[in-house]
Parts: sequence; C-alpha cells; structure tokens
Amino acid sequence: MPPEPRTAIATVCLSGTLEDKLAAAAAAGFDGVELFENDLLVSPSSPADIRRRCAGLGLSIDLYQPFRDFEAVPPDVHAANLRRAAHKFDVMAQLGTDTVLVCSSVSPDAIDDDELAAEQLRALADLAQQRGMRIAYEALAWGRHVSGYEHAWRIVRRAAHPALGVCLDSFHILSKGHDPAPIRAIPGEKIFFLQLADAPRLPMDVLPWSRHHRLFPGQGDFDLTAFTGHVLAAGYRGPLSLEVFNDVYRQADPRPAAVDARRSLLALEESLGVRDLPAAPRLTGHAFAEVVTDPGAGAILASLGFARTGVHRTKPVQLWEQGEARVVVNEGGAAHGAVGALAVASTDPARSARRAEALLAPVLPRVRGPREADLASVAAPDGTQVFLCGDDWRDDFVPTGETAAGAGILGIDHVALSQPFDHFDEAALFYRSVFGLTPSPVAEFAAPFGLVRSRAVAAEEVRLTLDSALVRRGEWAPAVPEPQHVAFACADALAAAAAMRAAGAPLLTIPANYYDDLEARLDVPPGLREHSVLYDRDDHGEYLHFATALAGTRVFFEVVQRIGGYRGYGVVNAPVRMAAHRAHRRAGAPAKTAV
Ligand code: MG
Ligand code: MG
Repeated sequence: MPPEPRTAIATVCLSGTLEDKLAAAAAAGFDGVELFENDLLVSPSSPADIRRRCAGLGLSIDLYQPFRDFEAVPPDVHAANLRRAAHKFDVMAQLGTDTVLVCSSVSPDAIDDDELAAEQLRALADLAQQRGMRIAYEALAWGRHVSGYEHAWRIVRRAAHPALGVCLDSFHILSKGHDPAPIRAIPGEKIFFLQLADAPRLPMDVLPWSRHHRLFPGQGDFDLTAFTGHVLAAGYRGPLSLEVFNDVYRQADPRPAAVDARRSLLALEESLGVRDLPAAPRLTGHAFAEVVTDPGAGAILASLGFARTGVHRTKPVQLWEQGEARVVVNEGGAAHGAVGALAVASTDPARSARRAEALLAPVLPRVRGPREADLASVAAPDGTQVFLCGDDWRDDFVPTGETAAGAGILGIDHVALSQPFDHFDEAALFYRSVFGLTPSPVAEFAAPFGLVRSRAVAAEEVRLTLDSALVRRGEWAPAVPEPQHVAFACADALAAAAAMRAAGAPLLTIPANYYDDLEARLDVPPGLREHSVLYDRDDHGEYLHFATALAGTRVFFEVVQRIGGYRGYGVVNAPVRMAAHRAHRRAGAPAKTAV
C-alpha cells in the first residue's frame, strides 16, 4: 500500500475564530491547515503567534490563501500587484509557510492574453523564489479568462518557472463537468496543491453553488475517488486538503465539524487504497429498535399484535416481538419520545466496532451487568445510539412466556430518523462510511409545515431514512417536531390494517381527497380507502403503508408492504401522513398519544 497522504483542512471550512478553528483541526487529527487570510486578519494574534500556536498543536500551515486578481493586467496594475505580493510574502515568512494560492483573476482589468499572464506569474514566481516560497495557481470556475484547470496548466507550463505550479480544486473542475483524466498528464511535482470538496448536483450558477453548497468528500454527488486517483497517479505527494464553503459548517460547532471532515478523508483514502481500515462487515438486519417514550408505546405495540416477550434483567425496559420485529420499549428514559437506539446485526460485531472507532465514531461507554451481552455502541451525529450486535443480546432479557397474537408483521423494514437540519449531510456520511450503507439520492418534498429533505441509507437488510425540515425557524410548530418511526414489514397491509384496527390500534385516518386523486391517476388495488392505507409505486413494484398515532411526543409506528421490488419509502405520501397526524391530535386523541 502506498504511504498515507498527509491531510489538511482550510480554516474557512470551520466556524469560529482562528484559534477555535486551529484547536478543532488539531483535535480531529489533521496534519495541517490552509490558512484563509481573512481568518488571520480578524485575529488578535500576530502571524508569529499563529505560527507558534500551530506548532504547539502539531499543525503545519500548508497554504496561505487566497491571493486574488493578480495576472494579465496592464503594467501599472502589475507593479501594484507585486507590491501587494511582497507584503503577503512577509506575512507568510512570519507564519512559516511557503506556498500561496493565486486564483485566476475575476477583475475587469484582466486581459485575455495567456502570454501576458505567464509573464506576470513568472515575475511573481521570481519574487517568491527569492524568499524560498512558491505560487500555486488555481483556475476558478468563474475566472474571467481562465476558468479551467487545463488552461491554468498551459499558462504555468508556458511560464516555465520552478516556483510556479498549479493548485487543483475538485469543485472548480467537477462543477463545470471538466474531464479530470488529463490531470494524469501533469507532472506531479508541478501540482503544488490539491483542494478537495464534494457538492450536490444543483442546477444553479457555479459561484453561489460553490459559496453555499460545497460538502466534504462522500457527502455529495462528485466522484472524488476517481478525481483524487488521477491526481495521485500524476505523482502528487502533497496533502489532501479540504476546502469546503458551506452554510451549515460555517455556523456549526467546529469540533464535531472537523471530526466529520476528517472522517470524510479517511473514507476517501480507504476508497483510494491508501488507508487500511477494518472492512465493514455485512449487516444482516435490524436486531432491534429501542424507543424511549412516555407510557403508551407498549399498548400500541400490543394493538399491532406484538407480545411483551421479555423484561430486561437490570433496566426498566421491555422487549416486544412479532415475527422478526423486535422493539425495546424504554418508558422510563430521560428523553421522552425518540428512537433512542437502533441495533444492527453484524456478521462480525467486533470488527464493526473497530471500523467505527477507526472512522472516529464516538464509541459509547457501557455499563455491563453480570449476565449482559457486551454490546459495542457508537453515537450517530444526532445522538442516536447504534448497537452492533451478534445474537447474544437477547440473554439480557428474562422471558415472560407471553406470545404474540400476531397481525402479520414479519420484521423491521426500516427505521426513520429525522435529523436536525445541521446533521443531515453529516449523518449520511456517518452511516455510509461507518456501516457501509449506500445513500440514495436526496429528495425534497413540500409538506404542510414546510419543505422536507429526505434520503435513505441502506444495505440489503438494514434500511434507514434520514429526513430533515429545511431551515426550521420560528415558534409556529404545529408539526410533530422531528418525527421518527419504526416501520414494520408485512405481507398483506390491508389485512394487517383491518386486524389492527379491530384490536384497537390508533391508526391514522386518511382523507377521501387523497383516494379520489389516487384513483384518478392510478389503477390501484381495492380496499385502500376503506382501510386508510397509503399507496405508491415505482418502476420496480408497489408499496402499501399505514401509520399509527404517536406514542409519546415524536415516535410512531408504520406498517409497510413491498410488492415486487419496490425500492422507496413512500416519501410521496409523507405530506398526507403529516396532515393526518395533526388532524388526529386536533380530534382529541387519547392523552398519551397527543401533542
Ligand atoms: Mg479552491
Ligand atoms: Mg417510513
């Protein structure tokens, strides 16, 4: 295996003062930083102080950035630009850094003349070389005359100066759809710096796209494994450095944000074959889901045909089962109304735990009783506890001898974890990298109380959906705040709905308008309207599903039937379910299920 590359992060990625950012980058294990000039300008620390602080934290300053609007200008502007550069080199000397990023000019003064650009960059490189420094020239996607990396490389090659090379930024290259393969033809020693950013594919202008929506590798739609592979194949041996401008990360606590950033690089390095991590074992299913709720969840599960099959040996929690569906009900927890934990069955729980640790997932301390299984667990970004189980966890429960009446439930189909908006992208990366789940494309839908963003992360037997209300602000909150649900699979949703309703299950009532529209659009199976069962179909099959009222403040249960190879989660029906939840609460639902 080739040597592990060094890693760096641009200070502009993180929130806070420069001192906050440096501490967070060091704590997350980065080797170095790109120092964003504005972070220095607002700092009370002198450049020499920053140099000492970085050294104390074990961080190198790998790049000073950015120097704007330099090349291809009239002679008087060029002379002024060289004076500007001399001052920057003084600052860099005090910082102890030797590489400055020069991004292609956006100035109206700039002239479309490669020879002039090369000549002026050569003069700048001369000045840098005298100071033992070097220039990394980057094509901005919105540069006035230079907007592609191949163009920037032509100019650098024309200038032919040892202190002048290119900086490659994945966003500027991939956002414009430029083919990264020709990077392989650039001599590695002329690639002075590499900046990595992912992004969702958005049909918008590249400047606001870059400024607001960059993401860490693995969170967006760009193929950064292929991109970085080309750069390494060219012979680049500098750091893999993150440069991500993102509205959420610029506001978020820099400490977890830096960990998230570093996790993205660890996963990228693994995909490039330059970092050895314990491989993700196959996950064979949902071992159980734990709901922390006010008293009431047990009664709802009973009405769905579940039996209370076990009582925990030491904790106030009960195990409810039907088929292969297992729900641990914790009615005494501090946080009322949440899927407090989910447990996934792994073919190698110990290796799953080692992988989680290697990917910087917080491994949670666990108090272990004398007869209790030693379950490793990690905290997901939103605090959900994820257990990695074999099959010995059931020994923790004393059997009650009760058996399920049964209403056709076979197992857990998926668990829906709404995410605080700030954790949405982070959560997808977490589940993808730590557990080897595959994210689906992001969908957005208009719900009664605002837009909701949704994506699934799934493997064959383990499926999670991550929903998030967009920019949730203000006091008016008629929706269930961050609703979560456990969805059970069944083979006949209509029969299950009938049996459960007869047993007193608090199932939602779906309005006639929904069925009038559905029947006008699609040839649907009979009985949906009668049983308030929702319907969806895709290219692979059909989906029937229905939901209960809330158990507590946030959590409800869903029952789903997949017909054929349906791959979705009925997201199209989420708005009608949300409105039905509110109608149910307003109709004076039983006290334990109302909000
Ligand atoms: Mg850049
Ligand atoms: Mg669902």
